[in-house]
Amino acid sequence: MGYPHKPHPKETVLLSRYFGEADARTYKGWVKRGGYAALEQARAMEPARVVDIVKESGLRGRGGAGFPTGLKWSFMPKEKKKPHYLCVNADESEPGTFKDREIMRWTPHALLEGTAIAAHAIQAEVAYIYIRGEFTEPLAIMDKALTDARSAGVFGNLKIHLHRGAGAYICGEETALMNSIEGKRGNPRIKPPFPAAAGVFGMPTTINNVETLAAVPHILTKGAAWYKGLSLASPKSTGTKLFSVCGHVQHPANYEVTMGFPLKDLVYELCGGMRPGRTLKACIPGGSSVPILDRAETESCLLDYEGVVERGSMLGSGGVIVFDDSTDMVYQIMRLARFYAHESCAQCTQCREGTAWTTKILERILAGQGKTADLDLLLDLSENMTGKTICVLSDSCAAPVVSGIKKFRSEFEDYIAGRRKPVMVA
Ligand code: SF4
Repeated sequence: MGYPHKPHPKETVLLSRYFGEADARTYKGWVKRGGYAALEQARAMEPARVVDIVKESGLRGRGGAGFPTGLKWSFMPKEKKKPHYLCVNADESEPGTFKDREIMRWTPHALLEGTAIAAHAIQAEVAYIYIRGEFTEPLAIMDKALTDARSAGVFGNLKIHLHRGAGAYICGEETALMNSIEGKRGNPRIKPPFPAAAGVFGMPTTINNVETLAAVPHILTKGAAWYKGLSLASPKSTGTKLFSVCGHVQHPANYEVTMGFPLKDLVYELCGGMRPGRTLKACIPGGSSVPILDRAETESCLLDYEGVVERGSMLGSGGVIVFDDSTDMVYQIMRLARFYAHESCAQCTQCREGTAWTTKILERILAGQGKTADLDLLLDLSENMTGKTICVLSDSCAAPVVSGIKKFRSEFEDYIAGRRKPVMVA
């Protein structure tokens, strides 16, 4: 069967090709598979050439924002007056997303190689890999891989540090992550200044996601044009993407497909469809912080940055959460709001108060004590929580609330009108 499933014929396995092969975790095993050849290739080039190749490939950040990677690298100062830093975001705290964890578990050297290439491109002498606190197994695997590759002299003068987070969701936000590395409370910072001007320790910094960096060696060895050719719909979305699918499908797992792959095929074919006797109701396509899609939107959505936006949501981190017809959408949305209320760092009033009040109102509706005016109140609150804060956690809480009320309003009204049995939430 293989881990955790034999690749489906419709998958394009690039990053996940060696998932399940324990030997690929070892330094020798990685070199045997052609590992670190891309790093040698990159080191033989001027940093600016490496940046150009990645720009030409069309690679965009896989952590959530989808910003063009080469362009981000090009923002680093050309004249090196201060030390440059690279931070690798391996925090992966977005609910529904579990693909970076698997890259680190099965192909730690792919991340280390991508990290070293990126460090060369931006002329960084220090890289921090910030790993989520709960990822004890990936951390141990990364530690061993780093020690072995370092002993083999792979990194030259580049210093790579593994930094273990303490498990706060907000530390996945890039400026909070930098504060955390500095030993401060993981609070997001106001931008500007942007990290390329003043990042970790006040120095020029680039922050990249694990999946983004793991794709870089492939671009170096196979070429930018080849990578750009991996695109089924929009020329602005290239390469492959790992989608972590969870929820009410028969086979929840990570699946790697070419950008532009139909979400419908991912759910019904690769994941084996819904549980027996159940039908698809809704889907969150990009981790818990993006708007919910209803069934029709899900079944007509193409999985790339533009395709998901066309259906009213975002590709985000690629965490696909699938709901069947047994799902109580009001309850699910309350759970999401409660999560964000718990994880708010509380610096911004709109977020601190908004996430807490959103949760309280949703709990009240579920308890059968809601009023019709509560729905407008929730929408009004959400509007005031969107685009007005230091980071987007506040927006992330509002997105499922607004889309949920718009698409599943009758479920809220049923609780308010007493047509649904109240749910007491602890
Ligand atoms: Fe903190 Fe929320 Fe403001 Fe982000 S939006 S900085 S999490 S209070």
